[in-house]
Amino acid sequence: MARTFFVGGNFKLNGSKASIKEIVERLNNADLAENVQVVLCPPAPYLDYTVSLLKKSQLAVGAQNTYLKASGAYTGENSVEQIQELGAKWVILGHSERRTLFHEDDKFVAEKTKFALDQGAGVILCIGETLEEKKAGKTLEVVERQLTAVLAEVKDWTNVVIAYEPVWAIGTGLAATAEDAQDIHKSIRKFLAAKLGDKVAEEIRILYGGSANGSNVASFKDKVDVDGFLVGGASLKPEFVDIVNSRK
Ligand code: PGA
Repeated sequence: MARTFFVGGNFKLNGSKASIKEIVERLNNADLAENVQVVLCPPAPYLDYTVSLLKKSQLAVGAQNTYLKASGAYTGENSVEQIQELGAKWVILGHSERRTLFHEDDKFVAEKTKFALDQGAGVILCIGETLEEKKAGKTLEVVERQLTAVLAEVKDWTNVVIAYEPVWAIGTGLAATAEDAQDIHKSIRKFLAAKLGDKVAEEIRILYGGSANGSNVASFKDKVDVDGFLVGGASLKPEFVDIVNSRK
């Protein structure tokens, strides 16, 4: 079964109307591969602005985070319904920066994932090990622990895209090798097959994230379990188009 190639652009806390306009116009004007889905994730204040700029049906917008309540006394948070009203279809949850800097644990990420899915949003669920965990040979143990927390909450994984993002590769310029990513993605798919059945595991997209850029993505081209990328720094640059087109 062919899984649609998926490329997410995680702008993090970067951007202005002017710079976002440049990024979206570059995509609008580029000759994009047809079988690729692109989700741009700007900071929340720019969600509806970004949506207003889209001119291609394969482009969509996602938020970088949402809370697990619809409304209430939660200063500083955004609800799923609110980002949806601004036109966002997706949300990134469990990003390592949220887990580390904002102390989001597995259970909290899992609860937010369930809530967002229940509201009809697609979730880009980030998992991945730290350098220490990698050195200790615990990569699979860590990603399986992170997935197990979500499995306890979420039964229907149709609208989940997994992003395997080793923490040591994020923003460091040191991407995982395509071979290592393929091995881990394959193990993740096998783990999900055991928990959710072969069909779900076959259909779910597993993205690689962590210093993916216009030059290194070509090496992932023949990796059958790498279904796209979640791109941080390079999503702000012209080379993002090359990443989107890397399976062309
Ligand atoms: P990076 O970030 O591409 O800048 O390493 C990826 C991410 O954090 O999603």
